[in-house]
Amino acid sequence: MFEKKTIKSILGGVISVTSLASGLVFLPVDQSVVAASIQTLNTDIPVETRKTFANVLPEYTGISQGYHYGHLAIDLTAPLGSSVYPVREGVVVKVQTLRWDYGRAVWIDNGKNTISLYAHLGKIFVNEGDKVSVDKPIGEVGLTGKTTGPHLHLEILRDGKNINPQPYLALGEVNKR
Ligand SMILES: [Zn+2]
Repeated sequence: MFEKKTIKSILGGVISVTSLASGLVFLPVDQSVVAASIQTLNTDIPVETRKTFANVLPEYTGISQGYHYGHLAIDLTAPLGSSVYPVREGVVVKVQTLRWDYGRAVWIDNGKNTISLYAHLGKIFVNEGDKVSVDKPIGEVGLTGKTTGPHLHLEILRDGKNINPQPYLALGEVNKR
């Protein structure tokens, strides 16, 4: 069930993010905004009215798998070694290095009962207990764990339940290089 998306759905994911992002106003990361005037054709994307934006993966090239039943995460493709930034400031609560599953992964407590998880990393620059901020990378995109190509598997949990990360990301333009 991992990484087996058709070209069509990959394009659909990219288009949906682009159209979502184009309707938003980008603000400094630690500010919240009432995004009341979002207009998007993708009515199945839950748009929340209060959110914090961040640029998690500046070098991202697209979405290889979106959020759906069976994949409660978003997969962002990017070249090996691309820097990964936390969605919001927080504290590292877990660093895991497995050969399977998530591979090398970092969990960050972002406050407000929100945890973010970054999986399949290569290098990891943080340790458990570290405070992190949005201007410093926590690691790099890798090929660890159950993955068939370099990408970031990003999960966000609120009150212990997975939520769709997409509305929380201000991804900007897809990197065309
Ligand atoms: Zn994934």
